[in-house]
Amino acid sequence: MTEQAKWNFDNSYARLPQPFFARLKPNPVRSPKLVLFNEPLATVLGLNGEALQQPEGVAVLAGNVIPEGGEALAQAYAGHQFGHFTMLGDGRALLIGEQITPDGNSFDIQLKGSGRTPFSRGGDGRAALGPMLREFLISEAMHALGIPTTRSLAVVTTGEEIWRETELPGAVLTRVAKSHLRVGTFQYAAGRGEVSDVKTLADYAIKRHYPELAESENPYLSLLEQVISRQANLISQWQLVGFVHGVMNTDNMTISGETIDYGPCAFMDTYDPATVFSSIDTQGRYAYGNQPQIANWNLARFAETLVPLLAEDETKGVEMAQSAIEGFKGQYVSNWLAGMRKKLGLFNAEDGDKDFVEKLLRLMHEHEADYTNTFRLLTLGQPEKTAMNGTAEFSEWLEQWQQRQSRQAQTKDEAMKLMRTNNPAVIPRNHRVEEALAAAVDEEDDSLVKQLIAVLKEPYAYSEEQERYAKVPERCQHGYVTYCGT
Ligand code: AMP
Ligand code: MG
Ligand code: MG
Repeated sequence: MTEQAKWNFDNSYARLPQPFFARLKPNPVRSPKLVLFNEPLATVLGLNGEALQQPEGVAVLAGNVIPEGGEALAQAYAGHQFGHFTMLGDGRALLIGEQITPDGNSFDIQLKGSGRTPFSRGGDGRAALGPMLREFLISEAMHALGIPTTRSLAVVTTGEEIWRETELPGAVLTRVAKSHLRVGTFQYAAGRGEVSDVKTLADYAIKRHYPELAESENPYLSLLEQVISRQANLISQWQLVGFVHGVMNTDNMTISGETIDYGPCAFMDTYDPATVFSSIDTQGRYAYGNQPQIANWNLARFAETLVPLLAEDETKGVEMAQSAIEGFKGQYVSNWLAGMRKKLGLFNAEDGDKDFVEKLLRLMHEHEADYTNTFRLLTLGQPEKTAMNGTAEFSEWLEQWQQRQSRQAQTKDEAMKLMRTNNPAVIPRNHRVEEALAAAVDEEDDSLVKQLIAVLKEPYAYSEEQERYAKVPERCQHGYVTYCGT
Protein backbone atom coordinates (compact mmCIF):
# COMPACT_ATOMS: atom_id res chain seq x y z
CA MET A 1 0.00 0.00 0.00
CA THR A 2 1.28 3.50 -0.81
CA GLU A 3 1.84 6.01 1.92
CA GLN A 4 -0.96 8.30 2.94
CA ALA A 5 -0.99 11.96 1.92
CA LYS A 6 -2.04 12.89 5.47
CA TRP A 7 -5.06 14.99 4.68
CA ASN A 8 -6.47 16.18 7.98
CA PHE A 9 -9.69 17.99 7.21
CA ASP A 10 -12.14 20.06 9.11
CA ASN A 11 -15.19 21.31 7.20
CA SER A 12 -16.33 24.34 9.15
CA TYR A 13 -17.64 26.14 6.08
CA ALA A 14 -19.81 23.13 5.21
CA ARG A 15 -21.45 23.50 8.63
CA LEU A 16 -22.80 26.96 7.69
CA PRO A 17 -26.41 27.02 6.53
CA GLN A 18 -27.13 25.81 3.01
CA PRO A 19 -27.53 29.16 1.22
CA PHE A 20 -23.80 29.80 1.58
CA PHE A 21 -22.73 26.94 -0.69
CA ALA A 22 -23.67 24.07 -2.95
CA ARG A 23 -22.36 20.57 -2.32
CA LEU A 24 -20.68 19.02 -5.31
CA LYS A 25 -19.57 15.66 -6.60
CA PRO A 26 -16.13 15.21 -8.14
CA ASN A 27 -16.06 16.06 -11.81
CA PRO A 28 -13.34 13.72 -13.09
CA VAL A 29 -10.85 14.72 -15.77
CA ARG A 30 -9.32 12.33 -18.31
CA SER A 31 -5.67 11.97 -17.39
CA PRO A 32 -4.24 14.13 -14.62
CA LYS A 33 -0.53 14.85 -14.73
CA LEU A 34 1.42 16.80 -12.14
CA VAL A 35 3.28 19.81 -13.53
CA LEU A 36 4.24 21.85 -10.44
CA PHE A 37 4.30 20.85 -6.81
CA ASN A 38 5.18 23.01 -3.81
CA GLU A 39 7.09 20.78 -1.37
CA PRO A 40 7.79 23.44 1.28
CA LEU A 41 4.12 24.39 1.39
CA ALA A 42 3.10 20.72 1.66
CA THR A 43 5.36 20.46 4.69
CA VAL A 44 3.84 23.56 6.33
CA LEU A 45 0.41 21.99 5.78
CA GLY A 46 1.49 18.72 7.38
CA LEU A 47 1.02 16.84 4.11
CA ASN A 48 3.17 14.04 2.82
CA GLY A 49 4.57 15.59 -0.36
CA GLU A 50 5.91 12.32 -1.69
CA ALA A 51 2.57 10.54 -1.40
CA LEU A 52 0.74 13.48 -2.95
CA GLN A 53 2.91 13.25 -6.04
CA GLN A 54 1.92 9.60 -6.59
CA PRO A 55 -1.07 8.85 -8.88
CA GLU A 56 -3.50 8.59 -5.94
CA GLY A 57 -2.36 11.97 -4.64
CA VAL A 58 -2.53 13.57 -8.07
CA ALA A 59 -6.08 12.24 -8.50
CA VAL A 60 -7.03 14.41 -5.51
CA LEU A 61 -5.21 17.45 -6.88
CA ALA A 62 -7.17 17.02 -10.13
CA GLY A 63 -10.53 16.79 -8.37
CA ASN A 64 -11.08 13.17 -9.45
CA VAL A 65 -11.17 11.87 -5.89
CA ILE A 66 -12.25 13.63 -2.71
CA PRO A 67 -10.05 12.40 0.13
CA GLU A 68 -11.56 10.89 3.24
CA GLY A 69 -12.83 13.59 5.56
CA GLY A 70 -13.26 16.15 2.79
CA GLU A 71 -16.62 17.68 1.83
CA ALA A 72 -16.61 19.16 -1.63
CA LEU A 73 -18.54 22.36 -2.17
CA ALA A 74 -18.72 25.54 -4.23
CA GLN A 75 -19.11 28.75 -2.24
CA ALA A 76 -21.78 31.30 -2.99
CA TYR A 77 -20.88 34.97 -3.14
CA ALA A 78 -21.76 38.20 -4.87
CA GLY A 79 -19.68 41.15 -5.90
CA HIS A 80 -19.35 44.51 -7.53
CA GLN A 81 -17.61 43.77 -10.80
CA PHE A 82 -16.23 47.00 -12.25
CA GLY A 83 -18.80 48.78 -10.10
CA HIS A 84 -21.82 46.63 -11.00
CA PHE A 85 -23.43 44.37 -8.44
CA THR A 86 -23.77 40.71 -9.51
CA MET A 87 -24.64 37.39 -7.85
CA LEU A 88 -21.67 35.08 -8.40
CA GLY A 89 -20.15 32.09 -6.59
CA ASP A 90 -17.39 29.61 -7.35
CA GLY A 91 -18.00 28.99 -11.03
CA ARG A 92 -14.94 26.84 -11.49
CA ALA A 93 -13.64 26.09 -8.03
CA LEU A 94 -14.20 23.41 -5.45
CA LEU A 95 -13.42 23.67 -1.76
CA ILE A 96 -12.48 20.16 -0.64
CA GLY A 97 -11.86 20.92 3.02
CA GLU A 98 -9.84 22.87 5.53
CA GLN A 99 -6.49 21.29 6.25
CA ILE A 100 -5.54 21.44 9.92
CA THR A 101 -1.78 21.85 10.11
CA PRO A 102 0.48 20.25 12.75
CA ASP A 103 0.66 23.63 14.50
CA GLY A 104 -3.11 23.92 14.64
CA ASN A 105 -3.78 26.43 11.86
CA SER A 106 -6.40 25.76 9.23
CA PHE A 107 -6.23 26.46 5.50
CA ASP A 108 -8.82 26.12 2.78
CA ILE A 109 -7.77 23.64 0.11
CA GLN A 110 -9.49 24.70 -3.07
CA LEU A 111 -9.23 23.32 -6.57
CA LYS A 112 -9.49 25.96 -9.28
CA GLY A 113 -10.50 24.84 -12.75
CA SER A 114 -12.17 21.68 -11.47
CA GLY A 115 -15.37 21.82 -13.50
CA ARG A 116 -18.84 23.32 -13.64
CA THR A 117 -20.83 24.24 -10.53
CA PRO A 118 -24.32 25.68 -9.95
CA PHE A 119 -22.58 29.10 -10.10
CA SER A 120 -20.86 28.63 -13.47
CA ARG A 121 -23.35 30.73 -15.41
CA GLY A 122 -22.18 30.49 -19.03
CA GLY A 123 -18.67 29.29 -18.19
CA ASP A 124 -17.17 25.85 -18.71
CA GLY A 125 -15.80 25.59 -15.16
CA ARG A 126 -12.33 24.95 -16.48
CA ALA A 127 -8.99 26.72 -16.47
CA ALA A 128 -6.13 26.80 -18.95
CA LEU A 129 -2.60 25.72 -18.09
CA GLY A 130 -0.94 29.11 -18.76
CA PRO A 131 -3.02 31.15 -16.28
CA MET A 132 -2.77 28.44 -13.59
CA LEU A 133 1.04 28.36 -13.90
CA ARG A 134 0.94 32.15 -13.76
CA GLU A 135 -1.08 32.11 -10.52
CA PHE A 136 1.34 29.58 -8.99
CA LEU A 137 4.34 31.65 -9.99
CA ILE A 138 3.08 35.09 -8.97
CA SER A 139 1.35 34.05 -5.74
CA GLU A 140 4.50 32.26 -4.58
CA ALA A 141 6.58 35.31 -5.59
CA MET A 142 4.27 37.51 -3.50
CA HIS A 143 4.66 35.15 -0.55
CA ALA A 144 8.44 35.32 -0.87
CA LEU A 145 8.20 39.12 -0.92
CA GLY A 146 6.48 38.87 2.46
CA ILE A 147 3.07 39.99 1.17
CA PRO A 148 -0.05 38.27 2.55
CA THR A 149 -1.46 36.03 -0.16
CA THR A 150 -3.24 32.83 -1.00
CA ARG A 151 -0.69 30.21 -2.01
CA SER A 152 -0.33 27.48 -4.59
CA LEU A 153 0.26 23.85 -3.75
CA ALA A 154 0.15 22.29 -7.20
CA VAL A 155 -0.75 22.57 -10.85
CA VAL A 156 -1.93 19.49 -12.74
CA THR A 157 -2.89 19.21 -16.37
CA THR A 158 -6.15 17.43 -17.03
CA GLY A 159 -5.38 15.73 -20.34
CA GLU A 160 -8.39 17.60 -21.73
CA GLU A 161 -8.41 20.51 -24.14
CA ILE A 162 -10.43 23.59 -23.36
CA TRP A 163 -11.57 26.26 -25.77
CA ARG A 164 -10.44 29.90 -25.32
CA GLU A 165 -10.50 31.47 -28.80
CA THR A 166 -8.14 28.62 -29.55
CA GLU A 167 -7.62 25.14 -28.08
CA LEU A 168 -5.55 25.10 -24.88
CA PRO A 169 -4.46 22.45 -22.38
CA GLY A 170 -6.75 22.36 -19.33
CA ALA A 171 -5.33 22.51 -15.81
CA VAL A 172 -6.29 22.58 -12.14
CA LEU A 173 -4.53 24.69 -9.51
CA THR A 174 -4.65 23.80 -5.82
CA ARG A 175 -5.09 27.08 -3.97
CA VAL A 176 -4.37 27.36 -0.27
CA ALA A 177 -5.94 30.22 1.68
CA LYS A 178 -6.62 31.25 5.27
CA SER A 179 -10.18 31.24 3.96
CA HIS A 180 -12.06 32.23 0.84
CA LEU A 181 -14.37 34.63 2.70
CA ARG A 182 -14.65 37.76 0.61
CA VAL A 183 -16.28 41.16 0.85
CA GLY A 184 -18.53 39.59 -1.78
CA THR A 185 -19.54 36.77 0.59
CA PHE A 186 -20.96 39.41 2.93
CA GLN A 187 -22.63 41.16 0.01
CA TYR A 188 -24.23 37.85 -0.90
CA ALA A 189 -25.57 37.38 2.63
CA ALA A 190 -26.83 40.97 2.84
CA GLY A 191 -28.27 40.79 -0.67
CA ARG A 192 -30.52 37.90 0.35
CA GLY A 193 -32.19 40.30 2.76
CA GLU A 194 -31.72 38.23 5.91
CA VAL A 195 -29.80 40.00 8.68
CA SER A 196 -29.48 36.63 10.40
CA ASP A 197 -27.39 35.37 7.45
CA VAL A 198 -25.01 38.32 7.78
CA LYS A 199 -24.73 37.68 11.51
CA THR A 200 -24.00 33.98 10.97
CA LEU A 201 -21.29 34.89 8.49
CA ALA A 202 -19.77 37.63 10.66
CA ASP A 203 -19.66 35.28 13.66
CA TYR A 204 -18.00 32.68 11.47
CA ALA A 205 -15.43 35.17 10.13
CA ILE A 206 -14.61 36.33 13.66
CA LYS A 207 -14.21 32.78 14.90
CA ARG A 208 -12.01 31.84 12.02
CA HIS A 209 -9.81 34.91 11.61
CA TYR A 210 -10.16 37.21 14.59
CA PRO A 211 -11.17 35.03 17.57
CA GLU A 212 -9.88 37.62 20.03
CA LEU A 213 -12.60 40.03 18.84
CA ALA A 214 -15.42 37.87 20.17
CA GLU A 215 -14.76 39.38 23.60
CA SER A 216 -14.74 43.00 22.46
CA GLU A 217 -17.51 45.45 23.27
CA ASN A 218 -18.87 45.48 19.73
CA PRO A 219 -17.39 42.46 17.89
CA TYR A 220 -18.89 43.48 14.53
CA LEU A 221 -17.39 46.95 14.67
CA SER A 222 -14.09 45.37 15.66
CA LEU A 223 -14.37 42.99 12.72
CA LEU A 224 -14.90 45.92 10.37
CA GLU A 225 -11.94 47.77 11.86
CA GLN A 226 -9.68 44.74 11.64
CA VAL A 227 -10.51 44.07 8.00
CA ILE A 228 -9.91 47.74 7.20
CA SER A 229 -6.56 47.61 8.92
CA ARG A 230 -5.48 44.34 7.22
CA GLN A 231 -6.44 45.74 3.84
CA ALA A 232 -4.67 49.05 4.53
CA ASN A 233 -1.58 46.98 5.23
CA LEU A 234 -2.03 44.75 2.17
CA ILE A 235 -2.62 47.54 -0.33
CA SER A 236 0.34 49.54 0.99
CA GLN A 237 2.52 46.49 0.39
CA TRP A 238 1.21 46.12 -3.17
CA GLN A 239 2.02 49.77 -3.86
CA LEU A 240 5.50 49.45 -2.37
CA VAL A 241 6.48 46.63 -4.75
CA GLY A 242 4.57 47.94 -7.78
CA PHE A 243 1.98 45.15 -7.91
CA VAL A 244 -1.10 45.82 -10.03
CA HIS A 245 -3.92 43.41 -9.10
CA GLY A 246 -5.95 44.23 -12.16
CA VAL A 247 -9.40 43.09 -11.06
CA MET A 248 -10.16 44.50 -7.63
CA ASN A 249 -13.84 43.61 -7.69
CA THR A 250 -15.38 43.20 -4.24
CA ASP A 251 -15.50 39.42 -4.75
CA ASN A 252 -11.71 39.50 -5.09
CA MET A 253 -11.08 41.14 -1.72
CA THR A 254 -10.61 38.84 1.26
CA ILE A 255 -11.71 39.22 4.86
CA SER A 256 -8.38 37.68 5.96
CA GLY A 257 -6.35 40.41 4.22
CA GLU A 258 -4.68 38.02 1.78
CA THR A 259 -4.19 38.85 -1.88
CA ILE A 260 -6.55 36.68 -3.91
CA ASP A 261 -7.35 35.94 -7.55
CA TYR A 262 -4.30 36.15 -9.74
CA GLY A 263 -5.98 36.83 -13.04
CA PRO A 264 -4.76 39.80 -15.01
CA CYS A 265 -2.28 41.00 -12.36
CA ALA A 266 1.26 42.10 -13.23
CA PHE A 267 4.16 44.05 -11.79
CA MET A 268 4.71 47.55 -13.05
CA ASP A 269 8.01 48.12 -14.84
CA THR A 270 8.22 51.84 -15.70
CA TYR A 271 6.82 53.94 -12.88
CA ASP A 272 3.46 55.37 -13.89
CA PRO A 273 0.42 55.61 -11.62
CA ALA A 274 -1.82 55.09 -14.67
CA THR A 275 -0.37 51.62 -15.31
CA VAL A 276 -3.06 49.10 -16.34
CA PHE A 277 -2.37 45.68 -17.82
CA SER A 278 -5.78 44.06 -17.98
CA SER A 279 -7.37 43.89 -21.42
CA ILE A 280 -10.85 44.37 -19.97
CA ASP A 281 -10.03 47.39 -17.80
CA THR A 282 -10.54 49.88 -20.58
CA GLN A 283 -11.35 52.77 -18.22
CA GLY A 284 -8.32 52.20 -16.01
CA ARG A 285 -10.54 51.72 -12.97
CA TYR A 286 -7.99 49.35 -11.42
CA ALA A 287 -4.83 51.24 -12.44
CA TYR A 288 -1.85 51.08 -10.08
CA GLY A 289 -2.46 54.56 -8.68
CA ASN A 290 -6.17 53.90 -8.07
CA GLN A 291 -5.73 50.77 -5.94
CA PRO A 292 -5.88 52.46 -2.51
CA GLN A 293 -9.02 54.37 -3.47
CA ILE A 294 -10.67 51.25 -4.87
CA ALA A 295 -9.85 49.31 -1.70
CA ASN A 296 -11.48 52.11 0.25
CA TRP A 297 -14.58 51.87 -1.95
CA ASN A 298 -14.74 48.07 -1.60
CA LEU A 299 -14.43 48.32 2.16
CA ALA A 300 -17.32 50.78 2.22
CA ARG A 301 -19.41 48.07 0.50
CA PHE A 302 -18.30 45.65 3.24
CA ALA A 303 -19.22 48.17 5.94
CA GLU A 304 -22.71 48.58 4.45
CA THR A 305 -23.40 44.88 4.89
CA LEU A 306 -22.52 45.11 8.59
CA VAL A 307 -24.63 48.19 9.40
CA PRO A 308 -27.59 46.24 10.86
CA LEU A 309 -25.18 44.44 13.22
CA LEU A 310 -23.33 47.55 14.40
CA ALA A 311 -26.17 49.21 16.31
CA GLU A 312 -29.89 48.80 16.82
CA ASP A 313 -30.51 52.26 15.50
CA GLU A 314 -29.76 52.39 11.77
CA THR A 315 -28.53 55.99 11.76
CA LYS A 316 -26.12 55.14 14.51
CA GLY A 317 -24.95 52.04 12.61
CA VAL A 318 -24.32 54.08 9.47
CA GLU A 319 -22.34 56.64 11.45
CA MET A 320 -20.19 53.94 13.02
CA ALA A 321 -19.54 52.34 9.64
CA GLN A 322 -18.64 55.68 8.07
CA SER A 323 -16.28 56.63 10.81
CA ALA A 324 -14.50 53.25 10.58
CA ILE A 325 -14.16 53.62 6.81
CA GLU A 326 -12.73 57.09 7.19
CA GLY A 327 -9.86 55.49 9.08
CA PHE A 328 -8.67 53.59 6.01
CA LYS A 329 -6.88 56.42 4.24
CA GLY A 330 -4.79 57.51 7.21
CA GLN A 331 -3.76 53.93 7.95
CA TYR A 332 -2.90 53.27 4.34
CA VAL A 333 -0.78 56.42 3.98
CA SER A 334 1.03 55.79 7.21
CA ASN A 335 1.84 52.16 6.25
CA TRP A 336 2.95 53.24 2.82
CA LEU A 337 5.16 56.03 4.13
CA ALA A 338 6.70 53.73 6.74
CA GLY A 339 7.49 51.28 3.91
CA MET A 340 8.95 54.01 1.71
CA ARG A 341 11.23 55.15 4.53
CA LYS A 342 12.60 51.62 4.76
CA LYS A 343 13.08 51.51 0.99
CA LEU A 344 15.21 54.64 1.35
CA GLY A 345 17.14 53.45 4.39
CA LEU A 346 15.45 55.84 6.80
CA PHE A 347 14.88 54.70 10.35
CA ASN A 348 13.11 57.68 11.83
CA ALA A 349 10.29 59.93 10.68
CA GLU A 350 10.62 63.58 9.74
CA ASP A 351 7.97 66.09 8.75
CA GLY A 352 8.95 66.52 5.12
CA ASP A 353 9.23 62.78 4.35
CA LYS A 354 6.07 62.48 2.29
CA ASP A 355 7.09 65.36 -0.01
CA PHE A 356 10.59 63.95 -0.22
CA VAL A 357 9.33 60.52 -1.39
CA GLU A 358 6.80 62.05 -3.75
CA LYS A 359 9.52 64.13 -5.37
CA LEU A 360 11.45 60.97 -6.19
CA LEU A 361 8.33 59.37 -7.63
CA ARG A 362 7.60 62.44 -9.74
CA LEU A 363 11.11 62.30 -11.19
CA MET A 364 10.76 58.58 -11.86
CA HIS A 365 7.52 59.26 -13.69
CA GLU A 366 8.98 62.14 -15.74
CA HIS A 367 12.04 60.16 -16.75
CA GLU A 368 10.21 56.86 -17.25
CA ALA A 369 12.36 55.12 -14.69
CA ASP A 370 11.88 51.46 -13.91
CA TYR A 371 10.22 51.26 -10.48
CA THR A 372 11.95 48.18 -9.05
CA ASN A 373 15.34 48.93 -10.56
CA THR A 374 15.42 52.52 -9.32
CA PHE A 375 15.20 51.31 -5.73
CA ARG A 376 17.52 48.41 -6.49
CA LEU A 377 20.18 50.78 -7.88
CA LEU A 378 19.83 53.15 -4.93
CA THR A 379 20.31 50.11 -2.69
CA LEU A 380 23.43 49.11 -4.60
CA GLY A 381 24.81 52.64 -4.27
CA GLN A 382 24.56 53.18 -8.05
CA PRO A 383 22.24 56.16 -8.51
CA GLU A 384 24.22 57.09 -11.61
CA LYS A 385 22.66 54.11 -13.39
CA THR A 386 19.08 55.32 -12.90
CA ALA A 387 17.08 56.97 -15.65
CA MET A 388 17.05 60.29 -13.78
CA ASN A 389 20.81 60.58 -13.57
CA GLY A 390 22.38 63.80 -14.79
CA THR A 391 19.35 66.00 -14.12
CA ALA A 392 19.69 68.89 -11.71
CA GLU A 393 16.54 67.88 -9.87
CA PHE A 394 17.77 64.37 -9.21
CA SER A 395 21.17 65.64 -8.02
CA GLU A 396 19.30 67.91 -5.65
CA TRP A 397 17.19 64.99 -4.46
CA LEU A 398 20.29 62.84 -3.90
CA GLU A 399 21.85 65.66 -1.91
CA GLN A 400 18.69 65.91 0.21
CA TRP A 401 18.78 62.13 0.72
CA GLN A 402 22.41 62.29 1.90
CA GLN A 403 21.51 64.97 4.39
CA ARG A 404 18.39 63.15 5.50
CA GLN A 405 20.43 60.00 6.20
CA SER A 406 23.16 61.93 8.02
CA ARG A 407 20.55 63.25 10.47
CA GLN A 408 19.84 59.75 11.81
CA ALA A 409 21.83 57.82 14.37
CA GLN A 410 22.29 54.71 12.21
CA THR A 411 25.35 54.19 10.04
CA LYS A 412 25.36 54.10 6.24
CA ASP A 413 25.90 50.39 6.47
CA GLU A 414 22.82 49.90 8.58
CA ALA A 415 20.82 52.04 6.17
CA MET A 416 22.00 49.91 3.27
CA LYS A 417 20.97 46.74 5.09
CA LEU A 418 17.51 48.15 5.69
CA MET A 419 17.21 48.96 2.00
CA ARG A 420 18.34 45.49 0.97
CA THR A 421 15.59 43.83 2.96
CA ASN A 422 12.94 46.16 1.58
CA ASN A 423 13.82 46.58 -2.09
CA PRO A 424 13.50 43.36 -4.07
CA ALA A 425 16.33 42.67 -6.50
CA VAL A 426 13.93 40.61 -8.59
CA ILE A 427 10.22 40.63 -9.27
CA PRO A 428 8.26 38.50 -11.75
CA ARG A 429 9.07 40.64 -14.79
CA ASN A 430 6.35 40.39 -17.39
CA HIS A 431 8.63 39.35 -20.25
CA ARG A 432 10.22 36.63 -18.08
CA VAL A 433 6.83 35.33 -16.99
CA GLU A 434 5.54 35.26 -20.57
CA GLU A 435 8.67 33.56 -21.89
CA ALA A 436 8.45 30.87 -19.20
CA LEU A 437 4.72 30.28 -19.71
CA ALA A 438 5.09 30.07 -23.49
CA ALA A 439 7.76 27.36 -23.16
CA ALA A 440 5.58 25.42 -20.72
CA VAL A 441 2.38 25.64 -22.74
CA ASP A 442 3.63 25.57 -26.34
CA GLU A 443 6.62 23.27 -25.95
CA GLU A 444 5.71 21.34 -22.81
CA ASP A 445 8.99 22.50 -21.33
CA ASP A 446 8.47 23.59 -17.75
CA SER A 447 12.14 24.21 -16.97
CA LEU A 448 11.91 28.01 -17.38
CA VAL A 449 8.89 28.21 -15.06
CA LYS A 450 10.73 26.17 -12.46
CA GLN A 451 13.87 28.33 -12.77
CA LEU A 452 11.86 31.50 -12.42
CA ILE A 453 10.04 30.17 -9.36
CA ALA A 454 13.42 29.32 -7.81
CA VAL A 455 14.87 32.78 -8.49
CA LEU A 456 11.80 34.51 -7.08
CA LYS A 457 11.99 32.53 -3.85
CA GLU A 458 14.63 34.90 -2.51
CA PRO A 459 13.81 38.32 -3.86
CA TYR A 460 16.14 40.09 -1.44
CA ALA A 461 19.21 37.92 -2.07
CA TYR A 462 20.97 40.29 -4.50
CA SER A 463 22.81 37.30 -5.95
CA GLU A 464 24.75 37.43 -9.21
CA GLU A 465 22.26 35.16 -10.94
CA GLN A 466 19.50 37.59 -10.10
CA GLU A 467 21.23 40.37 -12.04
CA ARG A 468 20.08 38.66 -15.24
CA TYR A 469 16.50 38.69 -14.02
CA ALA A 470 16.61 42.37 -13.08
CA LYS A 471 16.97 43.48 -16.72
CA VAL A 472 14.04 45.16 -18.37
CA PRO A 473 13.38 44.10 -21.97
CA GLU A 474 15.06 46.08 -24.76
CA ARG A 475 11.79 46.98 -26.37
CA CYS A 476 10.01 48.56 -23.49
CA GLN A 477 6.99 46.88 -21.96
CA HIS A 478 4.61 49.70 -22.77
CA GLY A 479 1.43 48.08 -23.95
CA TYR A 480 1.89 44.78 -22.11
CA VAL A 481 -1.57 43.23 -21.87
CA THR A 482 -2.90 40.57 -19.52
CA TYR A 483 -6.07 38.53 -19.95
CA CYS A 484 -8.59 37.77 -17.29
CA GLY A 485 -9.50 34.46 -15.70
CA THR A 486 -8.83 32.11 -18.60
P1 AMP B 1 -12.96 36.54 -11.51
O1 AMP B 1 -13.07 37.65 -12.51
O2 AMP B 1 -11.80 35.65 -11.75
O3 AMP B 1 -13.02 37.02 -10.13
O4 AMP B 1 -14.23 35.60 -11.74
C1 AMP B 1 -15.53 36.11 -11.67
C2 AMP B 1 -16.55 35.01 -11.62
O5 AMP B 1 -16.55 34.24 -12.84
C3 AMP B 1 -16.36 34.01 -10.49
O6 AMP B 1 -17.63 33.69 -9.98
C4 AMP B 1 -15.73 32.83 -11.18
O7 AMP B 1 -15.99 31.62 -10.50
C5 AMP B 1 -16.43 32.86 -12.54
N1 AMP B 1 -15.64 32.20 -13.59
C6 AMP B 1 -14.45 32.59 -14.11
N2 AMP B 1 -14.05 31.72 -15.08
C7 AMP B 1 -15.01 30.78 -15.18
C8 AMP B 1 -15.18 29.61 -16.00
N3 AMP B 1 -14.28 29.25 -16.91
N4 AMP B 1 -16.31 28.89 -15.81
C9 AMP B 1 -17.22 29.24 -14.91
N5 AMP B 1 -17.12 30.31 -14.12
C10 AMP B 1 -16.03 31.08 -14.24
MG1 MG C 1 -12.50 36.00 -8.46
MG1 MG D 1 -10.10 35.02 -11.45
